[in-house]
Amino acid sequence: MHDMLSAFSHSDASHHTSTHVVALDLGGTNLRAASIDHDGALHHRTKIRTPQSDDPHAVADALAEAFDACAQVSRQHDAEVRAFAVAVPGAIDSKDGGRILRMPNIKALQNFQLGAYLEKQTGVPVVLENDANAATMGEVWQGAARGKQTAICLTLGTGVGGGLVLNGALWRGAYEAGGELGHIIVEPEGALCPCGNRGCLEAYASATAMRRLYIEASGASANDANEEINAHVVYQRAQAGDEHALQTFQTVGKYLGIGITSLVNAIDPEIVVIGGGAAAGWDMFVEPLRAEVKRRAFTERGKNVEVAPAARGDDAGLLGAAYLAWQKLGSV
Ligand SMILES: [Zn+2]
Repeated sequence: MHDMLSAFSHSDASHHTSTHVVALDLGGTNLRAASIDHDGALHHRTKIRTPQSDDPHAVADALAEAFDACAQVSRQHDAEVRAFAVAVPGAIDSKDGGRILRMPNIKALQNFQLGAYLEKQTGVPVVLENDANAATMGEVWQGAARGKQTAICLTLGTGVGGGLVLNGALWRGAYEAGGELGHIIVEPEGALCPCGNRGCLEAYASATAMRRLYIEASGASANDANEEINAHVVYQRAQAGDEHALQTFQTVGKYLGIGITSLVNAIDPEIVVIGGGAAAGWDMFVEPLRAEVKRRAFTERGKNVEVAPAARGDDAGLLGAAYLAWQKLGSV
């Protein structure tokens, strides 16, 4: 939202006891928002269903209403609301009014100037960020990578999201398309990824992939009794000692290790953080993951890179979005 940041200014906050930003994490199913101060404390939360509408205004107005709900509580507590920070599941052109370039899960917003619209509706500066990038920044600011300057974050969900923090700053790439770590190749002629390519990390480490790997391992057909199989079920079965479920997590760990080795060789990070709902199987995939990195990484330091579970769960995206707003305001 760089062009819109001229709207950021140091207003006179002397009559307020504190300042907040409202952060929002937009998902295909739910949207969550919170008032957050510049120490990363969350003061008020709200969560509503994301409108399933073809009208971009209907979706954007729901975001503005969630902002109002949080801002109202902040103001009741004498906190001035300085900005609205929104993490979105897609790609953004921040130089074009916060236009949404690609958002497969909320198609109504595609090509919509979300940033400009929200600034008009809320009256405060708006910061938009990709959700995986925001989650990465959240873990660096207030989570597992706190205090680290160079970090890699992978989010294992329906897909595999990624983010890079280099020298303390989020790396967006030359054209705001960087950090797509789920689509690095770990198996040249491997399984088909939703992106159309074969052998992406996402095709071996997402919740969707865990279901497929389990069905493959157990030799069962996806059409018979396996409709109820999902990553959570595979996790439960692995906990109960099901050998095919355990094998699934071995495979996930192996491919995560292969992908992470390439990232470690390229970036030389202080830490690799793994989050997302499908990271619940941590205890079952971390050992094969570490073994693979140890076997393959180029340097001794790389072989022993710190790999840690995410610490802020669903709040990482909210925190990271808030951090980016505070950064623009010059408060962190
Ligand atoms: Zn892919």
